[in-house]
Amino acid sequence: MAEQLNEYQGKATMEKITSLAKRRGFVFQSSEIYGGQNGAWDYGPLGIELKNRIAGAWWKEMTQLNDDIVGLDAAILMHPRTWEASGHVENFTDPLVDCKKCKARFRADMIPEENLAAKKCPECGGELTDTRKFNLMFKTHIGPAEDTASIIYLRPETAQGIYVNYKNIIQSNRMKIPFGIAQIGKAFRNEIVTKNFIFRTCEFEQMEMQFFVKPGSDDEWFNEWRKRRWAYYGKLGVKMDHLRWHQHGPDELAHYAKDAYDIEYLFPMGWRELEGVHNRTNYDLNRHTQFSGKDMQYIDQDNNNERYIPYIIETSAGLTRNVLMILCDAYDEEQVADKGNDDDWRTVLRFHPSLAPVTVAVLPLMKKDGLAELAQDIRRELKEDFAADYDQAGAIGRRYRRQDEAGTPFCVTVDYQSKDDGTVTLRFRDSMEQIRVPKAELAARLRQEIKEYKRTK
Ligand code: ATP
Repeated sequence: MAEQLNEYQGKATMEKITSLAKRRGFVFQSSEIYGGQNGAWDYGPLGIELKNRIAGAWWKEMTQLNDDIVGLDAAILMHPRTWEASGHVENFTDPLVDCKKCKARFRADMIPEENLAAKKCPECGGELTDTRKFNLMFKTHIGPAEDTASIIYLRPETAQGIYVNYKNIIQSNRMKIPFGIAQIGKAFRNEIVTKNFIFRTCEFEQMEMQFFVKPGSDDEWFNEWRKRRWAYYGKLGVKMDHLRWHQHGPDELAHYAKDAYDIEYLFPMGWRELEGVHNRTNYDLNRHTQFSGKDMQYIDQDNNNERYIPYIIETSAGLTRNVLMILCDAYDEEQVADKGNDDDWRTVLRFHPSLAPVTVAVLPLMKKDGLAELAQDIRRELKEDFAADYDQAGAIGRRYRRQDEAGTPFCVTVDYQSKDDGTVTLRFRDSMEQIRVPKAELAARLRQEIKEYKRTK
């Protein structure tokens, strides 16, 4: 394991990430022309590609590479009894205080203890209200009547959609314990404090996998899933010295949890949770049995029809939080001093090629003399297999910088020699090294480079 860092040492700041994200079309503020909507963000052309690829990598890891995990896409709107059974109506609260003077609102567990004890606002020194419990679930109404019978919630986690379907999936897909169900989808929380860009938002996406196991084997599976989730981030090329485990203490454990570990990432603002691995016991399925009156027991046909309520090991990652992590992790600034100018810097996003929004950009050295047409032909061919961009605007050095800043791992440059001998220049983002490759071999070469990619910087 890489030695863990105490303090953030990278080149990213939240300001730089936010501004690059906007400038290059990764992420925009929601409803910006109206002054923005707190806690909501829009993913632009590069952002949606990055988010989809992060989701795709997780989905492949969970469903394609594991024979015993299947997928699900459950509805956001669920029967309101779900949230009574799950304990969210009663327990999904944050402690809230307001400043009577400046009207600022704080999570009581996030301000210094002395301020809380003295009821003194950490911002203006004004008097704070008593702490009260604030439920994070968004409530709305379904149907034309706005009465209590029509109340419905936006799901605050995707997990419950999996629990209420687990017997359907056993029956339809003949699953046997141990097995898992994976799901990616939106979740909503009325967060009191939303800051740090897309880190904590009111509308976000989760990638959750619930693994159903026999009681008694839960500790073993819990450790197994901790190992697998840690290894996964290594495969994505994430800097491993920026990751650490944090075990929940007794006062941090959620109402359903027997044991819980967070994978934390060292963001520019410090160590923060990226993903949780939880032993949720049989709490949720017991509660759904109680509230729905349906039998949620598993019948073990290989074992004399033994019946039990399975234990659940959950791995719960934020997809949108992973987007922020990958942006921070990839961000670099480097002095390049190519053209003999010592002050030449470049901003580069060192995405793993399998996550980069654009895999390859095809650039004609000049627009004239048939180079543009040749480059467009090459792009057309590559497009079948890769996210391929085409750019003919401006000096070639400037075009490379633009692609570096978008995190494009490979550039293909078409020049006069290409017309003569059918070779092109392949430029690597990280090293800026350039080699000549016959254009007929490009696709195979790119595939090999993606497969063998190792992050060096
Ligand atoms: P916190 O204590 O920071 O509010 P949590 O412990 O309640 O978070 P979980 O309920 O375990 O978080 O959610 C699982 C994952 O979902 C988190 O690790 C995080 O990546 C993501 N997540 C949770 N809340 C948000 C949010 N408001 N915005 C973005 N991602 C979130």
